[in-house]
Amino acid sequence: MRASSTRRTILAASLLIVVPAGLLLLLLHLVLPRLREENFKRYFDRPRKITNEQFTLYAEADDPAGDAAADVLRTFLNHLYARWGDGERLDLVGQRELEHPVVVLLLRDHARLKDYHGPRYRTQTIEFNAGMYEPIAGTIALVSGRLSAPAELRRILCHEATHLVLDRLVRGGNHDWSLWLNEGLATYLEASRPLAGVGFRLGGLTPAHVDTVSERLPVSVADVLALTPADFTALDNRRAYALASVFIGFLLEGEGRRYEHRFWQYVAAERAPGPVAPGRFESVFRLPLGQLDAAFQAFVREQRYLR
Ligand SMILES: [Zn+2]
Repeated sequence: MRASSTRRTILAASLLIVVPAGLLLLLLHLVLPRLREENFKRYFDRPRKITNEQFTLYAEADDPAGDAAADVLRTFLNHLYARWGDGERLDLVGQRELEHPVVVLLLRDHARLKDYHGPRYRTQTIEFNAGMYEPIAGTIALVSGRLSAPAELRRILCHEATHLVLDRLVRGGNHDWSLWLNEGLATYLEASRPLAGVGFRLGGLTPAHVDTVSERLPVSVADVLALTPADFTALDNRRAYALASVFIGFLLEGEGRRYEHRFWQYVAAERAPGPVAPGRFESVFRLPLGQLDAAFQAFVREQRYLR
């Protein structure tokens, strides 16, 4: 009698735990993704969904840029994982098994981007006016009408996808990447492009950016590391993006790629939770900032000369 009543108590107690837990799981895995999907579809007249294991893209059914965008994103992510996705650098490949897949919205016009953007982001500038990465929902929203040239679609999509990938690398920490790193890498990688006949070039230096940096030499590494949000949101923001991206180009390509490995070590150091320590760059690169200045400047001059 006593044994059976104990069993009943245990059974009742387990039901009290199992049933709500089951309902919660159901909510998390079935209901919320459904609600999220319905929300994304609100911004389209006739939504078309292109989906694969890496991302989900929504576009207007009659928007020819839909397939082009899916193609750009697939190629870009594949090359990004192939180049830097090994365990030695960063576990980018792990990003494929994300809880929430990458979502891209290819909106018809700027009014819909504003509508999607909402009042939450009123104070932020919409990057390049043609697209944005939205960290809270983890989505990239692009304005198809502003991206009629294929090269422009590729540029903006690669830029915003870099922000998204970097954001998802931060685990267990609630911090922002250094601006020079986040905008610099996104701007460097926006130059990714197919090469005639031989695959794809991941990242690169834009001639206009090299020119902008060359206009005011000398430049110091300390100046790049000290770039502020105001520098990037200023009306004439070309110099901040140019400086940051040319510096990333230097770290990844300069002097026979001798800093490339350290750069990814630095990314790993910033990825760790907690505030970004001021001396972190120097400690990872194991040299005082000023010692890189001459090499950085020689790189800028060489890039200018090479063109
Ligand atoms: Zn950006």
